Amino acid sequence: KQYSCGENYTPIVDIPTWAQQAGAAKGLNDGDPLARRVSLHVGDITKLEIDAIVNAANNSLLGGGGVDGAIHRAAGPLLKVECAQLKGCETGDAKATCGYKLPARYVLHTVGPMGSGDEALRSCYSRCLELARQHGLTSVAFPCISTGVYGFPAERAAKIALETVRDFLANDKYGEKIERIIFCVFLDADYRLYTQLLP
Ligand code: ADP
Repeated sequence: KQYSCGENYTPIVDIPTWAQQAGAAKGLNDGDPLARRVSLHVGDITKLEIDAIVNAANNSLLGGGGVDGAIHRAAGPLLKVECAQLKGCETGDAKATCGYKLPARYVLHTVGPMGSGDEALRSCYSRCLELARQHGLTSVAFPCISTGVYGFPAERAAKIALETVRDFLANDKYGEKIERIIFCVFLDADYRLYTQLLP
């Protein structure tokens, strides 16, 4: 398989949008235009064939457990080689690499705060979207940053995730270019939380 960071790539997003999901479930906000560009997906983020997946990394960017470990395993060893050249990443910042063996073209590595720090968590989401703008990416999947080993309260984190992404889609110059944001949750509890908060 060719390593991917290429430009001639057609993202295949066959995941329903929130408008379709909410509509099917008689949801509240399927008429919201932003709902046609947002999806809630349960599963392994490493399987998504889109422009970029976000990694909840640590300051070293050299790999770890949780979603970070899964992404490094699926991308293969060259991901770590590229990450090592980045000389780490500050909490709240994000850095882009290729996706290598992943079906995603890019990985946006961001470092969430431990335990608390709303501003830093907000910054993780907005820095990833700024990287999307810099690289011309139009589909991005986020895991629930900081809510695993880093212990950030899940509901507070979900609210910050949704608010920050909504603000970017609605108000940033590049926001209208974004075709799809996928909130890729892994736990049933997070799925329930996002289902409640997305409307
Ligand atoms: P952090 O250190 O930022 O808390 P973790 O990886 O421990 O990062 O957890 C972040 C979130 O990622 C958690 O909700 C966890 O359940 C989820 N997660 C773990 N593996 C995957 C995966 N393969 N795909 C998507 N999400 C995952």
